Amino acid sequence: MASTEGVKIHPAVDHGIARAAADFSGGTLRCHCDTDPVEIRIGAQSAHNHICGCTKCWKPDGAIFSQVAVVPRDAVTITAHEEKLEVVNPDAPIRRHRCRACGVHMLGRIESRDHPFYGLDFVHTELSESTGWSPPEFAAFVSSAIESGVDPARMGAVRDRLRELGLEPYDALSPPLMDAIATHIARRSGALPA
Ligand SMILES: [Zn+2]
Ligand SMILES: [Zn+2]
Repeated sequence: MASTEGVKIHPAVDHGIARAAADFSGGTLRCHCDTDPVEIRIGAQSAHNHICGCTKCWKPDGAIFSQVAVVPRDAVTITAHEEKLEVVNPDAPIRRHRCRACGVHMLGRIESRDHPFYGLDFVHTELSESTGWSPPEFAAFVSSAIESGVDPARMGAVRDRLRELGLEPYDALSPPLMDAIATHIARRSGALPA
């Protein structure tokens, strides 16, 4: 086993993972602007929270992974400074909205009703001061961290550290989410009954 000493994954997990609070019903996400921050009210607990190594998800300074969860789209309300939001890439299936001033991604929204995750918005719960959000459960797209500049020789230690934290590393999404995507595709193609 590689030494995991000094391996930093993300501030939300590096010092232990906080637990979900019972009956937690959401909070307000705030971007990093000192003045006029964008604020988004989430009126629900998050789900499928995970650590993500892809190059598209927003990461705090110095982190090699992102922390990202989903919430029901109808539980999301932009409550302040919507005018500061811009879409990072309008052609991406997940339209990530970032604050044009500080660069923080506030919301990832799926507009295609054919997308397996339509109806869910992607959010970074660390942008909220509330505690009790559902904690990360696994690590997705771990190999992609190399695309952000992580030395491939460090990946053994990175995966060992993720396992130490109880975050099973996968190079795609977790098996249940990959199964959900494949089921959606099979129902559309007729391989499975709709
Ligand atoms: Zn901002
Ligand atoms: Zn990602």
